[in-house]
Amino acid sequence: MYPFDPIESLANLRHEFGEHGGVNLSIEASSTFTVMQATTLPAIFQGQSSPEKGGCYLYGRHYNPTVYVLGKQLAALEGAQSAYCCASGMSAIAATILQLANAGDHVIANNAVYGGTFALLKDYLPLKTGLKVSFVDTSDLTAVQAAMTKQTKLIFVETMSNPTLSVANIPKLAEIAHSYDAKLVVDNTFCPLVVSPLQLGADIVIHSLTKFINGTSDIIAGAICGSTEFIASLMDLHLGSLMLLGPTMDPKVACEISLRLPHLALRMKEHSQRALTFAQRLKQMGFDIIYPGLVEHPDHNLLKNIGNPEFGFGGLFSLDLETAQRANQFIEYLQNQKMFGFMAVSLGYFETLMTCPSTTTSSEMSSEDLKKAAISPGLVRMSIGYTGSLEQRWQQLESAIYELGVINLASKSS
Ligand code: PLP
Repeated sequence: MYPFDPIESLANLRHEFGEHGGVNLSIEASSTFTVMQATTLPAIFQGQSSPEKGGCYLYGRHYNPTVYVLGKQLAALEGAQSAYCCASGMSAIAATILQLANAGDHVIANNAVYGGTFALLKDYLPLKTGLKVSFVDTSDLTAVQAAMTKQTKLIFVETMSNPTLSVANIPKLAEIAHSYDAKLVVDNTFCPLVVSPLQLGADIVIHSLTKFINGTSDIIAGAICGSTEFIASLMDLHLGSLMLLGPTMDPKVACEISLRLPHLALRMKEHSQRALTFAQRLKQMGFDIIYPGLVEHPDHNLLKNIGNPEFGFGGLFSLDLETAQRANQFIEYLQNQKMFGFMAVSLGYFETLMTCPSTTTSSEMSSEDLKKAAISPGLVRMSIGYTGSLEQRWQQLESAIYELGVINLASKSS
């Protein structure tokens, strides 16, 4: 366990007051900004006088004061020097990879990542930029080492892989990346507060703010956290991926997300506590459950060592019902007959969200790629919410298991 406390770090940040002394920050609605003297402008345009350097604002696609404040809050949460926000998790991932790697460079990625990230790395970027990508089981450190080349610019992992929930050995992966002068990029979408990757040696952390951090499934947004130099490079007027591709966050969105950060810690604790209780009970019934909070999970000790114990083991677990048909029937029944959550992609919502990744969030992968990534056709991914009481929700889940006869599968696998 490391000494960094993300909650204290966020609380140590100077509270941002509104323009008229309001207790909440103001929304800066301007897309463009004035200066008093024309002679100020060249330094701003040449990047010598940006807000990061105590300078002025220029234009909303460059920096916006409200988005900038949210960036500072996320930097504090991850213990980064800087952070900036953008329109989606995917734009954060794409901008980061494009910033670090040029045409013909090489990237290593875990073979189980969110389907959109997989398609970006497997299909889109190689076609558009000539990027070479090796998908590796990154829990096999020898395989990662063997895949590294002089052209490798980054290793990309998710703290907890989507949807197989294997935990990245961030300290060891950072060591390998750094020995080749490459960067370790970690998508921490599943684990805000649970793990602080930058404190473990990662260079850049990405979030889909759409998930736990925003927490209400009403906004699509993303963030990139890293060194001040890296974040500034994303805004470079000639070569900055955020500045030039333009996936800009709306300042109204930034303000809304900022107002939800103060209760992120309470929410994460409840997501984790409920996921652990349900996973333990389902395991006891004999189900094939994947949850890093269970002592039987191969990465349980790793997560205990690298995680922030206060926040548990995360709000998601997966259970294997062998076929997609059975998985979807179970999810439908839970939603339509039991009022237990929603059959919907995404995660980190206050209600439980359930999906069968092989037919949804990982459907970009071929059946061979799914097999390599150990994503079984009948895997059900559950992002556990916190509405209602824990026992009420358990009763809904348990009764569906008996009524649908899913319990027979449990006895088969035990
Ligand atoms: N990273 C992970 C782990 C995800 O699960 C997702 C979306 O499901 C993304 C990134 C993409 O985020 P967004 O939908 O905000 O673009």
